[in-house]
Amino acid sequence: MPVRFDIVSQGEELLSGQNVDTNAPWISGELQSLGLVPGRVSVVGDELASIRAVLAEAAQRASVVVCTGGLGPTTDDLTRDAAAAAFGVPLEESAEGLAQIEERYRSRLRPMPPTNRVQALLPRGAELLENRLGTAPGFAWDTGSCMLFFLPGVPFEMRPMVIQQVLPRVRARFSLEPRRTVLLRCVSLAESVAGERMAGFERPGVTVGYRASFPEVQVKLHVDAGLDGDALAEEAIARLGRQHVFGVGTGPLASVVGDMLRERGETVSTAESCTAGRISAELTAAAGASDFFLGGAVVYANAAKTDFCGVPAELIAREGAVSESVARALAEGVRARMGSTWGLGVTGIAGPGGGSEEKPVGTLHIACAGPGGVDHTALRLPYDRLRNLSVSVALTLDLLRQAMLKRT
Ligand code: ATP
Ligand code: MG
Repeated sequence: MPVRFDIVSQGEELLSGQNVDTNAPWISGELQSLGLVPGRVSVVGDELASIRAVLAEAAQRASVVVCTGGLGPTTDDLTRDAAAAAFGVPLEESAEGLAQIEERYRSRLRPMPPTNRVQALLPRGAELLENRLGTAPGFAWDTGSCMLFFLPGVPFEMRPMVIQQVLPRVRARFSLEPRRTVLLRCVSLAESVAGERMAGFERPGVTVGYRASFPEVQVKLHVDAGLDGDALAEEAIARLGRQHVFGVGTGPLASVVGDMLRERGETVSTAESCTAGRISAELTAAAGASDFFLGGAVVYANAAKTDFCGVPAELIAREGAVSESVARALAEGVRARMGSTWGLGVTGIAGPGGGSEEKPVGTLHIACAGPGGVDHTALRLPYDRLRNLSVSVALTLDLLRQAMLKRT
């Protein structure tokens, strides 16, 4: 029998769209990794009757409920009242809870405002959950068929409470088979295409999830214990197209490319026009990039392309700065100038202005020069400026990755 969980995210600002609910996805991931199955996520505002109804229903539906938010000291923090009402018990001050709140203030050398005393109120019979990083303690309630956990909304306070107090209690209560999640990270592949290629992949004990993290697409295989996750991953990679899957459970594309360079003992340098250093920034985001990244030039003006990367002025005059020839010359030029194994060149019109009939906004040329010659791709991107740039960065890094794969 699967153990189902519900999550309740409480807060008017989540309902109104002022804040984005990041608690529910995070908690969901933690509980799924224990082997629980997601039931429903509810977002509820600051209305006592609504919170009470959502809690009562969740306790009926699920075996585990985690509710975050609304434990603060202000009048819009109604979760503890709603919980007491849903369970039909009064609120009672917890001496231990009050001591913890007072101690939190003492350790910060601050007097405790009298309003904070309300945070020590718990539904009678609830178990106190200590909050070491904030003032609002949490609490747990057991209906017999459902364990409910009430935690503060602030993510930084809530997360350690889940790890240290919720997960151990859930693990002790149910006999769970942990599921494994295999994360396949893909590039140059639309989410819809990934979905088509994976159609029919699911089978007993295996579910597939998708996440578009533009311009990357992530495919997650949730695999029951006892099944061979590695073999399933291989099967999925073959379906998705091996060249599209840049990592299995790895970091982002730039770090995969960096690791490949480091392993091969090779180096890269960059000549960026429209991306203006974004590629070098991504390549150097993780520590230790000096192992493989030699340097980069941001070459906006034509003179900079000529001065820093040796692109002939007459080539730019003849073909235009945004052209295949100039992208190739940038990649080759910076490679020669820096003496790196690989050179990357990007030139294009990210928009919104600067396009022409012949070269509309979104026209980009990316090139990768290496020991075996220069690879080039022409792009015509339909997005806004920032998306055009982030796609160009990803595809240029992928061009380098593909070039390395060709020369193993
Ligand atoms: P506090 O004592 O800070 O009032 P609380 O338990 O009452 O804690 P809320 O008032 O609901 O929590 O939320 C406090 C802050 O925590 C919110 O302003 C918001 O920034 C953040 N927060 C709350 N719920 C979520 C959520 N589901 N996802 C992300 N952030 C959240
Ligand atoms: Mg609050």
